[in-house]
Amino acid sequence: MKIGFNEGCNRFCANHSVLEDLKLCEKYGFDYIDVQSECLDRELAAGLYTLEDLGAFFKTSHLKMLSYNALIFFNMKQTQEEKDAVMAQLDEIIRRCQILDCKMIVVVPSMDLTVPATLDEIKADAVAVLKEMVKKVEPYGIKLSIEFCGCPTMSINRFEDAYAIVEEVNHPLVGVTLDQYHFHAMASSFEALEKADGKKIFVWHLNGMENMPCGAAYNNDEKRLWPGEPGDCLDHQRYADTLKKIGFEGDCCTMEVFRPDYYKLSNEENIAKAAEVTRAHVAKYCK
Ligand code: ZN
Repeated sequence: MKIGFNEGCNRFCANHSVLEDLKLCEKYGFDYIDVQSECLDRELAAGLYTLEDLGAFFKTSHLKMLSYNALIFFNMKQTQEEKDAVMAQLDEIIRRCQILDCKMIVVVPSMDLTVPATLDEIKADAVAVLKEMVKKVEPYGIKLSIEFCGCPTMSINRFEDAYAIVEEVNHPLVGVTLDQYHFHAMASSFEALEKADGKKIFVWHLNGMENMPCGAAYNNDEKRLWPGEPGDCLDHQRYADTLKKIGFEGDCCTMEVFRPDYYKLSNEENIAKAAEVTRAHVAKYCK
């Protein structure tokens, strides 16, 4: 099992830079990185580096880019203008992926819907949008991985709902991102995960979390922990065993936490710690 770093871990550390992250991830032995779009947009605008600088790094490094993280709020758009904006965003991300040699885009559902949509309506809309998106990524062999988010106000917030959409689209380039925090936070079902086809799970986001009530407003991404920290409530053996049993072929375990305390570390301390914890986790649970 390879190890990956998601910049959610250090995106607000002082003097953050995607280019520096690439060098540090290479130094500390990560195989993959998920580049966070908000870091990229912010730092490209500030002129810290160019996309070509990042692309040049990947040409000679062991480190590769696992995913472009993310195209956010892709579904349930109400006007043609909004729908066109999503597709334009996808075009720009595909352009960037060509430069960065990236073969996966994580797509994040919309939140706080202004229409009282049923799950059936949300599913039908997401399936239609993803079928349109697939036409755009297919020529490049880029995958689309839906990341359901375990937050009450998210339109797709449980594993089983995201998986039903992926099954309906039924395309080898469309799958699910399984983030342990998101899975637990809205009580997704292990029974559903056990019945799923592991080949349709493209990304595994690793984290621990504090034991918070499902759906509580304060149960947010900031409650994530390095796995195994005191207070972590997740059943890590069960996640690892279930993914193995259903045939997960992503072959990478990617650390993703968003804890304010961890943003107090330097970028190097954060990445060194993430590498140590991820490596130890894989050694312990992914035999
Ligand atoms: Zn995630």
